Amino acid sequence: MPENGPARIACDAMCGGLARWLRALGHDAFYREGIDDAELVELARREERLVISSDGKLFERKLIASGQVAGLMLPRGLRLLEQVEYVMRRLRLPVLQARCTQCNGRLVPATREEVSADVPARSLVWAREFYRCSGCRQVFWDGTHWRRIQAVRRRFAQLHESDAAAPPPKGEEPERDE
Ligand SMILES: [Zn+2]
Repeated sequence: MPENGPARIACDAMCGGLARWLRALGHDAFYREGIDDAELVELARREERLVISSDGKLFERKLIASGQVAGLMLPRGLRLLEQVEYVMRRLRLPVLQARCTQCNGRLVPATREEVSADVPARSLVWAREFYRCSGCRQVFWDGTHWRRIQAVRRRFAQLHESDAAAPPPKGEEPERDE
């Protein structure tokens, strides 16, 4: 995956929450409820995505074991934001323009007029930024939920600065497909 660009990731059927956060942090994260491992790995091969899973069996599949598909094993027992931090660190992912958390589509800035039919009147008055998803057409604006996401985005944006100050971890090279 390109250095400092959006990662192309395929999350397994257990990692829906992780996929939504990776999208909020600007990464192209595929997730589909109930997808089976074979289908997931084949999709990752076709779309050149890195597979994330905490299911050890998945990594024994030929495409991954042979290195044709990159994979990152997610340790079990992590809470959701710990999973996000693990992935951001291991893959050294930057924080980029957020994508749609629902469908992984790109968010396009929109004017107040353009979204007036889709935003509650009260929010329409005080919100200053609006975005529409180019995929599912959902509208996002800088409301309470958005502010929580922004706080997490700021935290992860500083992640690699603190990493740079610390000595490099031993044997912790992230898997990459270069
Ligand atoms: Zn969407």
